[in-house]
Amino acid sequence: MAKTRCNDHVVGAILASWRYDITGISPEMSRDYENHFAECSHCRGRQKFHRGLDVTLAVLTSLAVLFFLFALAVVQHIKPLEHVAFVVLGLDISDMYHMLLSAGFAGLLFSIAALALVLTATPAPSYLSDLAAERRKVIEEHLPAAIRSMRSR
Ligand SMILES: [Zn+2]
Repeated sequence: MAKTRCNDHVVGAILASWRYDITGISPEMSRDYENHFAECSHCRGRQKFHRGLDVTLAVLTSLAVLFFLFALAVVQHIKPLEHVAFVVLGLDISDMYHMLLSAGFAGLLFSIAALALVLTATPAPSYLSDLAAERRKVIEEHLPAAIRSMRSR
């Protein structure tokens, strides 16, 4: 990625400051930038890298939400935690329970906030829906004609 160079440093610097995201600008403005992406392999590569980063962040924060939900479910239902709290750590059972429960809720709220931030501050949702639409088109093209005619009805 570092070996290629942008062929228009002014446009390249503008695109870099936007993290190579041109989804938020007007159509007549975005045409110039789309032309630059078509011509410049450096900026195309950087754009791909940044969208990959956005998707990774969205996946990681979604996983964090799921893990904290799972942790809360575990705290609610597993009795061995009481044994650990009472015998090993010498804690009061309800203290331990409330500590784990509040840690679980704090983590859940934090990861939901992080996911919301990722989904609003990055073009990840539109990038993923574009990707899904492209995939759907490719799959539909490869369907046998019999199934395709059933779908169009
Ligand atoms: Zn460029």
